[in-house]
Amino acid sequence: MDSTEDRLAELRGPTPPLPHNARTIAALTTNPGCRRRAIMDAAGVDKRAVAARIDFPPPYGQSPFAITRTRTFVNQVKANGCAELLRMLREVLDLSIPEVAYNDLEDVGGNESQEVRHQRARQILGAAAAFSDDAGTLFDHPLLRLPVGGRQVFLEPDLIAFQYRGTFHIIEIKSFAVIDGQADGGKVAAAAVQSGVYVLALRQLLHELGHDPATVSDRVILVCPKDFSNQAVATKLDVRRQLTVLKRQLGNMTRIDEVLANVSTDITFDLAPNRDGHPTRPKGELCAALEDIPARYSPECLSTCEMSYFCRHEARGTTHALGKSVAEELGSIEWVETALQLAEGKLLPSREQTEASSVLQAALRLREECLGPAR
Ligand code: SF4
Repeated sequence: MDSTEDRLAELRGPTPPLPHNARTIAALTTNPGCRRRAIMDAAGVDKRAVAARIDFPPPYGQSPFAITRTRTFVNQVKANGCAELLRMLREVLDLSIPEVAYNDLEDVGGNESQEVRHQRARQILGAAAAFSDDAGTLFDHPLLRLPVGGRQVFLEPDLIAFQYRGTFHIIEIKSFAVIDGQADGGKVAAAAVQSGVYVLALRQLLHELGHDPATVSDRVILVCPKDFSNQAVATKLDVRRQLTVLKRQLGNMTRIDEVLANVSTDITFDLAPNRDGHPTRPKGELCAALEDIPARYSPECLSTCEMSYFCRHEARGTTHALGKSVAEELGSIEWVETALQLAEGKLLPSREQTEASSVLQAALRLREECLGPAR
């Protein structure tokens, strides 16, 4: 174990790390400048448990009912060697192959180590890429890897990659319904970003093996329940835009070892659980540990990060807490109170604040013309 991994283990404490998945990487890339989240995720800290311990429990989370429903639907689609999935793929990908080989890469002779499972995925997927004429192969549970903040992150996707005439397709199974051909736009958008993460990881694997990464299609197959039934329906989803954004955001992330270099060595998120698993760590100590690592709160955090209520509380009064567009408009004006004083002409703007200050004064004039004095 190198010093970065040792330090991350200390930050987490004695509990097993929470693994990354496409959802956490997608969330990480929506706020690549947040060092707090980068460190907590790299260390596999249970952010939900930390937030709950300091009385800022997260505003969202999948209900047990939704988790069970998702599992049941995935099992149904994958039952009997993915028979139902194959039926749909024949339609969506226009397949005419009578037989399709099915490979489950999850079990590697009882060895469950991530490294061994990943090596198995490299071996099997690499062979498929090399002998692409041997078309019609399904790969279940391939363990992929993606560099995030300078560390290789294993992804344990619930996905199937399908290779047909030399093209790999990522298949994403979701339990939200497609009703009359329409699905919830927000859920589809989130699925597209998560699928994009898998596309990047599979392209990375092929690149490392000397194969053409472009053989991984940028059209993923989304499988959902149809209408109000359990019948599955498959549709192609174009993730080109998501791939561009993900690549840029992953490229913008600071390396974890560089972020760690600025974190005090006595900081830890260890919840010090007692014998029953209940956290005993004093809340004040945990808050101080969090405050030691800079965050970059924005309202988008509310739907993507378990720490959002705490970070929103901490960011009260700042302009960036109002959202990216406000923060961009106001440039170097960090505090809402400063913005108000500049707008009212009670504060002389610095050179960098001059432009934003005139915009604020014009906005205040406009507001007062329409609604009367602001305060
Ligand atoms: S909620 Fe906090 S820790 Fe999470 S991404 Fe936002 S600023 Fe970072």
